[in-house]
Parts: sequence; structure tokens; C-alpha cells
Amino acid sequence: MLEEALKLLKEFKDNGYKAYIVGGYVRDHILGIESSDVDITTNATPKEIMELFDEAFLSSKDYGTVTVVKKGVRFEITTFRKEINYKDNRHPDEIKYIDDLYQDLLRRDFTINTICMDENGEIIDFLKGRDDLEKRIIRTVGDAKVRFSEDALRILRAIRFATSLDFSLDKDVIESIQLNKELLKNVSYNKRRVELDKIFTSNNASKGIGLLINYKLDKALELDNLDKITNTDSLIGIWSVINSDKYPFSSNEKELIDNINKVVKMDNYDPMTLYNYGLYVNSVAGDIKGLDKKKITEEYNNLVIHSRSDLDITSEDIMKLLGREPGEYLKDIYEDIVDKILYRKLENEKEVIEEYILSKY
Ligand code: ATP
Ligand code: MG
Repeated sequence: MLEEALKLLKEFKDNGYKAYIVGGYVRDHILGIESSDVDITTNATPKEIMELFDEAFLSSKDYGTVTVVKKGVRFEITTFRKEINYKDNRHPDEIKYIDDLYQDLLRRDFTINTICMDENGEIIDFLKGRDDLEKRIIRTVGDAKVRFSEDALRILRAIRFATSLDFSLDKDVIESIQLNKELLKNVSYNKRRVELDKIFTSNNASKGIGLLINYKLDKALELDNLDKITNTDSLIGIWSVINSDKYPFSSNEKELIDNINKVVKMDNYDPMTLYNYGLYVNSVAGDIKGLDKKKITEEYNNLVIHSRSDLDITSEDIMKLLGREPGEYLKDIYEDIVDKILYRKLENEKEVIEEYILSKY
């Protein structure tokens, strides 16, 4: 990854531009953590970047960000910029492209996110980000109160970094979070969810949840039941406990959340619950209730049948047996025999099932 990134920086340089790796990659590299992508900052404008790299495309991530993917490494490239007057605590009124790296670093959120690397792998650290990395502390670039009121998403990012890196929050950061937390209302649910998902999927999730509760951010973020999250193994499980329909979920996620919430109220060792809702939903519900997951898996594997197709009889068989056309009655019969077979009152053998059907229907 690093090799590919330094090569990209050299391409900028060869074309007369300045370019540096910045942000998450440099921070994580120093900490010995693997990164998923690389942020690049340059004095080339988006148009110039697009001209430089055939495979470049404008990213949906943020205004003016150009994405380049090389050898499977994703580069998020932004032009040195100054952001002017934040009108809605989220978006600057105006972005001005500039030629100066130092000025670009001043608009960034935290000191640990301002460390740069040049094409020779040399670290450039104008704002003493390395000191804060060593002290394991989240400190804003400039006055925390101003920086959080400019863009309230930074509040959530501070919590996210404190969680994923297990860093502490600078005193000014804590004070400004408390002062500005109501502004979180101006942050879109999508942006909130990106950060919250990173907090919830961190190995250190319980710390992040604790911080959200301690600083009373749950109210501004419209998150219920944070204090009821006891198990952090499943992201969708956490969202099921929170149960907020204000946040954006795919239809698949929505269905899972609904089912998990239903199944939480049921017995997750019961054959019918396991059969109807499957292993995944039952396991997550079991997680939420602190049940023995191994036992749930065992009970699931022990089910006589896991779906209708496991039955040793088909609809055609039943219709032929009874000499009847298709109809509602089939549903009743299925329900009945599935129940009997799951609770081992009837063997899953064609002749046995047929005999039972003939005797009853
Ligand atoms: P990750 O490991 O999640 O990618 P990151 O620090 O690289 O963490 P990005 O969202 O990729 O975060 O942003 C890249 C850089 O852009 C950050 O390191 C920071 O310098 C700057 N940045 C991102 N979001 C903001 C913001 N809301 N306000 C100020 N600067 C920001
Ligand atoms: Mg990044």
C-alpha cells in the first residue's frame, strides 16, 4: 500500500504538483495499524487530477474529492483548501483552493489527522500531531469550541477516534462537546450512521457507547436505549436495541431489525422459533439477551427440518393423496405437519406423514 502511495505522490511531483499522504493513513501507519484507504492532499485542482489519472472519478464521499484506485488501493484525493464561514454547522459556505499545505492542515479536525508523508516517506508534522499520537490524545486544530461549532460532525469523529484508537479526549474537546452537542441535530442521519457504525463495530465499542452516554449525546443524536446495549458483537443487534426508525436502513436491514426485535421476546431454544426465524436472527437475539450462543447453534443444528424443502412430502404428494385441487387447506396441513415434525411427534418419513394426513384430513 505504502509503495503504491509513494509512487502516486511521485507522479504528482513529476507533473509539477505538490502532493502528500495525510490523515488516517499516516496516523495509522505510525501507530502500526492497517488502513483501508489513503487520503492524499495536493495543490492540483480536481480538474487537473482528473486529467492526470485516466481512472480518476469524482467521489461521492465529499465535495471536490477525486478517487483513484490503483492496484486495489483506494486513494481519496483532495485539493489544498480553505473553508470559509460554516453556515449550518456542517457545510462551509465556500471552499477556496489554495497552494499552501500548511493552510490546508489548519482546516483539518484533529492534530493526529494532520501528519503528512512526502514521496520519500518522510514525515511532515507542522502541528505536532506526533506528540499527540504519543500522548494518545485527541486534540483539535485550533480552538475546539470554534471547530465543533463549525462542523458538529467533528464531535462524533472525536468520539469515534477515542474509541477505535483508545485515545483520551483533550479537556477542551470534552468541554466543547458538552457545549455544542445540540448541534449534532444538524448532522444528517447518513453521516451520523457512518461514524456510529465505526464506533459500534470497534473492538472497543463499549468505550464509545459509554462516552456517548456520559456526554449525553444520545438525546441529540436521537438514539434510545444506549444503556441497554449489553453485547456489542453484532452491529445489527445494536441497532435493534436502539430501534430508531429515523436512521437510514436498507430494506434488508429493516427486516432483520424487525425480526430480531420480535425474536428477542421469544424462546431462542424453541424449535419453532429457530425454524421460523433461522440461526442468524436467533443468535443475534440470543446475544442481546446474553444467552448461550453455542447452545442456540446446537439446538438449531438438531432441528429435524430447517425448511419446508426438508419435508419428505411435497404439495403434489398431498394433493394426489387427498384427490384434491390446490387450496388454502394445504397451508393448514403444512403448518400442522411442520409443527408435529419439529416437536418430534411425527417422523419425517413419507409413509408416516401420509398416514397421518389421511387419518386427520
Ligand atoms: P479513516 O481511518 O476513517 O479514514 P481519516 O482520519 O482518514 O480516518 P477521513 O474521513 O478519511 O478520516 O478524512 C481524511 C482527513 O480529512 C482526516 O484525517 C482529516 O484530516 C480531514 N477531515 C475529515 N473530516 C473532517 C471534518 N469533518 N472536519 C475537518 N477535517 C476533516
Ligand atoms: Mg481516511
